[in-house]
Amino acid sequence: MMSPVEFFRNLPKKVCPECGEGMQEQAESYLLECDRCLSKKEE
Ligand SMILES: [Zn+2]
Repeated sequence: MMSPVEFFRNLPKKVCPECGEGMQEQAESYLLECDRCLSKKEE
């Protein structure tokens, strides 16, 4: 049986739809864009 940790490690890497950069999986997974694009939008 697969452990939860292993399961999440096998998930495909999240990619920012804005710039196409791979981004780290974070607790705030509702965020679609990477940090760079998000900070750009805040201006
Ligand atoms: Zn981005």
